[in-house]
Amino acid sequence: MKRILVLLLLATGLQQCSYSQTKQQPMNTEQKKHPVYSNTDSSKVTVANDEWKKILPANVYSVAREKGTELPWSSPLEGNKEKGTYYCAVCGNALFVSDTKFESGCGWPSFYQPVSKASIIYTPDNTHGMERTEVQCGRCKSHLGHVFDDGPPPTGLRYCINGVVLDFKKAQEAAAKYKQ
Ligand SMILES: [Zn+2]
Repeated sequence: MKRILVLLLLATGLQQCSYSQTKQQPMNTEQKKHPVYSNTDSSKVTVANDEWKKILPANVYSVAREKGTELPWSSPLEGNKEKGTYYCAVCGNALFVSDTKFESGCGWPSFYQPVSKASIIYTPDNTHGMERTEVQCGRCKSHLGHVFDDGPPPTGLRYCINGVVLDFKKAQEAAAKYKQ
């Protein structure tokens, strides 16, 4: 019975995921409503998961707070080549800039370097029979994806990130924000 319930939940989650993704605009610049979301405040965010569940869309919550993985090729940001900054979709922390994005062919937005050392937290992840390094947001500790050592120069790293937990802002919009 329990297993059926889990499967049902998974199926519902996937449906919501694909539904919201078809509705999602490629360039999501909508300002988040909740009070801790900020592109400029670097103070740590500690919000309990049951609070996040009320705040975040279901597909963001599932990846960010339950370490889920979006389907490959499902993110409009995967092929995004515009200049700009990628922020954490949960808290607004700056994570990556477009100059460090590359086409990895893996189906998820990929970068070879984060904005700064403090923008990311690294944790060993030995689940699913693999030795991987999980990357989390340095501000709110949301799950973002994993980092692998098969990336391009100059770092040789590949940050494989779920697009659903990224907010992309075009260069001029980000610049306008910093002037405020
Ligand atoms: Zn965050």
